[in-house]
Amino acid sequence: MRFEVTTLAQLRRQIMKRGLDLSTMLAEVLAGKNPVGLAALIDKPGMRPEEKLRMALDQVESCRKLIDAHDDRYGRCGVCSEDLGLARLGELPWADRCSAHASQ
Ligand SMILES: [Zn+2]
Repeated sequence: MRFEVTTLAQLRRQIMKRGLDLSTMLAEVLAGKNPVGLAALIDKPGMRPEEKLRMALDQVESCRKLIDAHDDRYGRCGVCSEDLGLARLGELPWADRCSAHASQ
């Protein structure tokens, strides 16, 4: 593994927390509310909030699975496999795109 066990455990905890936050937001959206933090998530105009939240949840979940499977693809760009590095992952542990591919 490229990461220390303790580092990875910390990233995994943040990923789990993110998953929980997103699930809570999704439940609120489905209940017809407008949760705090939702606007910041919707980066593409015209995308339905529940659609965006489900995609974000999928991303978080696949990151967690990679960590749990000790899969080396965790922390790499899903397009070019570039190592995203701890500086980026420290901010966004669920990141799965390098800056060149981030907009896809
Ligand atoms: Zn890339």
